Amino acid sequence: MKLHEYQSKRLFAQHGIPVPQGEVAETPEQAREIAARLGGPVVVKAQVLVGGRGKAGGVKLARTPDEAEARAKEILGMTIKGLPVKKVLVDPAADIREELYLGAVLDRAARRVAVMASAAGGVDIEEVAATTPEKIVTVRVDPLVGLADYQARELAYGIGLHDKGRVRSFVHIARALYEAFVASDASLAEINPLAVVGDGQLVALDGKIVLDDNALFRHPELADMRDEAEEAEAERQARVNGLSYVELNGTIGCMVNGAGLAMATMDVIKLFGGEPANFLDIGGGARAEKVAAAMRIILSDPHVKAVLINIFGGITRGDEVARGIVQALEEVRPSVPFVARIVGTNAEQAREILQAADMVTASTLAEAAQKAVELANR
Ligand code: GDP
Ligand code: MN
Repeated sequence: MKLHEYQSKRLFAQHGIPVPQGEVAETPEQAREIAARLGGPVVVKAQVLVGGRGKAGGVKLARTPDEAEARAKEILGMTIKGLPVKKVLVDPAADIREELYLGAVLDRAARRVAVMASAAGGVDIEEVAATTPEKIVTVRVDPLVGLADYQARELAYGIGLHDKGRVRSFVHIARALYEAFVASDASLAEINPLAVVGDGQLVALDGKIVLDDNALFRHPELADMRDEAEEAEAERQARVNGLSYVELNGTIGCMVNGAGLAMATMDVIKLFGGEPANFLDIGGGARAEKVAAAMRIILSDPHVKAVLINIFGGITRGDEVARGIVQALEEVRPSVPFVARIVGTNAEQAREILQAADMVTASTLAEAAQKAVELANR
């Protein structure tokens, strides 16, 4: 679950990270009132759950309350990367001298939290990571010790901070960010930019937190921050139907039971030259409603050219799943071809049911993947 910038900054502030004292507005009038209250120039910022708002025109400076109202009106009418802007954050404008980057992310390969910093912060950090990765300094944190002062200093020196006071505040912020990350069971916590402002102070001007959904039960106050209006429709559907869904860039939709089997299915699709359009684990059982929900989610992605259903019938019987699929197909009536492979309990009956419904079937995963790749390339 992603938190909005304003929510992330509130959480940062609770852990002692300096943030601008802004407020959220849902109407242009509210934005004007906030700007008047703050006095002086403000920055009006779209609150949507995607990055790159600045480049999309969702971050604008305003010198007066009138201007703040006008900018808020423009931004509140925008759609950024498919998401409608329903709220804006009105922050006192900062006098930015330098833009640094500071982030904490789960490094699964290292089984540690990695804390990263860069002097090249701001809107192009993804480009920096891709083209000049040496400009990003990383330390990995021992979970029993936490982010040690010497590690935070290593980051500070690594990005060229020398001034004693500035290094001290950087160390304080880095440790606070790590604490916020751990305390909220996050998988990502990012400040970009961490700005050096006019008086030399460091301030978190942007904030991004991604929470681990599996740990949300431990944080009811964070779970309550979920903004359903801002969730992508496919993600919302997946969540309410208890499906694990991750959208990818390919053309072959995958519907699989079990995360391990879903990974294997994607590997085999790639082996035969295809690209999976998604990862979707429908979990145990496969009643028609759930299968239909999964189909709708997969088919809502316009890049999908063929769908591969790969099911292992264990406790869930294959024939039940097959009936669920046929029923769902009647309901959803997709315009792209489906290939289904069901093995395990009652696989034979499953195959008969699918063939009677004119579905392309396969008995091995290799055969199923090859057929799906061929259909997708047609
Ligand atoms: P993002 O594009 O979604 O990452 O949104 P950010 O909150 O990071 O804002 C994008 C850029 O807008 C920042 O990198 C800054 O350059 C600029 N910006 C944001 N807040 C302020 C501010 O208070 N004053 C000034 N001058 N620029 C700002
Ligand atoms: Mn940013």
